[in-house]
Amino acid sequence: MRQVERVVRGHAASDGAGVRLNRVIGNPDLPELDPFLLLDEFRSDSAADYLAGFPDHPHRGFETVTYMLAGRMRHGDNQGNTGLLVPGSVQWMTAGRGIVHAEMPEQENGLMQGFQLWVNLPARDKMTSPRYQDIAPERIPEVASGGSLVRVIAGTFAAVRGPVQAEATQPLYLDVRMEAGGAVGVPVPAEHNAFAYVYEGSARIGGRDIAAGELAVLSRGDEVPAAALDRGARLILVAGKPLEEPVARYGPFVMNTPEEIHQAVRDFSAGRF
Ligand code: MN
Repeated sequence: MRQVERVVRGHAASDGAGVRLNRVIGNPDLPELDPFLLLDEFRSDSAADYLAGFPDHPHRGFETVTYMLAGRMRHGDNQGNTGLLVPGSVQWMTAGRGIVHAEMPEQENGLMQGFQLWVNLPARDKMTSPRYQDIAPERIPEVASGGSLVRVIAGTFAAVRGPVQAEATQPLYLDVRMEAGGAVGVPVPAEHNAFAYVYEGSARIGGRDIAAGELAVLSRGDEVPAAALDRGARLILVAGKPLEEPVARYGPFVMNTPEEIHQAVRDFSAGRF
């Protein structure tokens, strides 16, 4: 059974053109959790916190995964793709050798809530062709078990495959909703890194009580035990195969060496994305 190695809380941050968010991975307390480079939580019903959005900006060398819980976000990129993220949907974007995109709210009031996770790519895939997948809410299977409802975004749970499979990092991405008294055991490959982030209520995870706003970094092991406390809980449980490669990062570019970062800056400046 996996246990909790450490508990971290997010740091208030601002990104894009001034979107307020909670940076849970990618802050000084938890710079990364290989292969995960960043986890941002956005949750606000104040339009001033999100209205400015994320106008055109580049990425190279990794994947971004946006999971919407509430609100609507419009995506458009320089490859000609466009899409609308709605509550319960996911966008899995592989930046590869380079993409320029905008992520803008398509609402002027009301709650905007969700997560963006950055998943690293191995050296051999960093310069792959960019691509993206918009996954509608109804394509994400749900598994009910023991007072819990598990949405399988990526990987496999209870023999149910999620719509996203990524070869290099083999990610597992579950959104778990537990009623009071609900419990679930999630098998995870023993050598993969894993974390749980509670975003509503509280839960006992790996033998420790985790409150909303806390991320539990989990030890190695082949199963994550979780049980709701009090009023129930909502959490994301994410795991992936560590790449164990050097990480050189500069803003929206994540490569293996400083020289590759310099090249990314030159390529973007020269309009080569
Ligand atoms: Mn982006």
